[in-house]
Amino acid sequence: MNHITFDRSNAKFPIPEVVTSFINGQSIVADNHGERLPAMCPSTEDTVSFLREADKAEVDAAVQAAREAFDKGPWPRMSMDERKRVMHQIRDVLLANIDEVAYLETLNAGITHGHTRGFHGPRMAWNFEFFAEVASQAAGEAYTQTKPYLSIVTREPIGVGALIGPWNAPIALCTMKIASCIAFGNTCVLKPSEFTPLSLRRVVELIHKTDIPKGVVNLVNGRGQVTGDALVSHPGVDVVSFTGGTTTGRAIAARAGQNLKPVALELGGKSANIVTASANLERALDGSLLAIYSNNGQQCLAGSRILVEKKIAAEFIDKFVKRSQQIIVGDPFEAKTQIGPLAYEAHMKRVLSYVDIAKSDGAELLTGGKRHTGFKKGYFIEPTAVLAKNNGARVCQEEIFGPFATFVTFEDIDEAIAIANQSEFGLVGYVWSEHLPTVMKVSQAIRAGTIWVNTPLTRELRAPFGGYKNSGIGRDSAHDCMTFFTEAKTTTIPLQDFPMAKWGA
Ligand code: NDP
Repeated sequence: MNHITFDRSNAKFPIPEVVTSFINGQSIVADNHGERLPAMCPSTEDTVSFLREADKAEVDAAVQAAREAFDKGPWPRMSMDERKRVMHQIRDVLLANIDEVAYLETLNAGITHGHTRGFHGPRMAWNFEFFAEVASQAAGEAYTQTKPYLSIVTREPIGVGALIGPWNAPIALCTMKIASCIAFGNTCVLKPSEFTPLSLRRVVELIHKTDIPKGVVNLVNGRGQVTGDALVSHPGVDVVSFTGGTTTGRAIAARAGQNLKPVALELGGKSANIVTASANLERALDGSLLAIYSNNGQQCLAGSRILVEKKIAAEFIDKFVKRSQQIIVGDPFEAKTQIGPLAYEAHMKRVLSYVDIAKSDGAELLTGGKRHTGFKKGYFIEPTAVLAKNNGARVCQEEIFGPFATFVTFEDIDEAIAIANQSEFGLVGYVWSEHLPTVMKVSQAIRAGTIWVNTPLTRELRAPFGGYKNSGIGRDSAHDCMTFFTEAKTTTIPLQDFPMAKWGA
């Protein structure tokens, strides 16, 4: 039996004993004020650090710092070329420290090091380059149709952004929020998940090794109900950008609504992955495994409902199960590991609880379904797959957010489309087919924000990403982020004198 160990004195990079907020360019002192929450390593179950929770007063200080930097500071007022220079400095400092950030992410979130170092880390740095480019290329509009006027539309920064992110991909997702917010001249307060504070705390420190003015990027740490709620409710916030679960999204939208603040919500999914008999089945198999199991199965865009055409179902499912059983689960720092531990204990228990839920709905357990027996400690579970009786089963309707695949079979493509759309979610959809009319039919009929044809998990940052139905409100993309993080202003000027009524003359 494997026993993965954690030794603070031997850690590859320094781990702070206490993680505090970072406000107005300064780390908050780790005094005994407020709640202390453990930050865990999910591979070893060790407490690796403590998080000192930001209370309402500390959140207020962070919003005030962002407010001051926005209302009076240089950031919204500087030229785009100058802002771009600083954004590139941020990219460079993050790239120079990518090993450390990826280490902290793997240690605290359990995401494999291959993924954090090879994919999330580069994406974190690229987010700053990408949004600097988007902001510097942004153009206005001009209208002359109403004579004799010229109306020009300019975009101005919207103000202070409250940015709230989840634990499943902290550095990739939260840096996208920071970059897309500040590129357009805004300032922000970020609240990461209480479960994964380590990597982002270091990222915010690193951002301050550049010429960024103080108060532009602030960080508060703590629980959603305490720190997050204080941030979203704060009247000094101008806009709320949230990525997380649908239930939380509803609560946040209600709070933001009370203050009439725009809100973007990137929420959960239960995406259909349609495998037709006309697919290249080898590629469909590879893609389906990646779609459900990568990032330890903890991803909003997972292909978690695998719909397979009946005539190929037995063979496809059999191969999927065999491959699932050969997946390497283990220490996320080992290069060969494909699935690491789930992020925290309560989440692991919740994922495993779906095995009994599936059975009580008449589903057949195909593989996995248990805590992995190969480890003394750590929140490792076996890659799991079930075959549901029909799409009404809870395992087909609820987001499980772990390495847990649910199969449903279908007779023809119309039935597959109907099943895919019978869901409260609409984040993404996958279809595997070499038959163009089938692909086009599915891509048009599925009510989801992104359709992947014969490919899993390909994010194009320029194109909109976001959900239909309960998967969210708004989109992330070059253009959508610009409209979300800016206010449009129309200025109208006559191009020549025109007759004006002379009231009272
Ligand atoms: P949660 O909704 O539980 O939490 C997300 C964030 O919101 C955390 O920082 C959390 O803090 C905070 N939060 C919780 N309650 C409140 C509140 N009342 N006010 C303000 N903030 C609050 O989601 P998870 O972290 O569990 O992430 C998993 C979910 O995220 C899944 O549903 C997944 O599908 C979704 N997701 C969506 C993506 C998309 O692009 N559509 C991408 C990635 C994930 P804390 O954790 O400290 O409680």
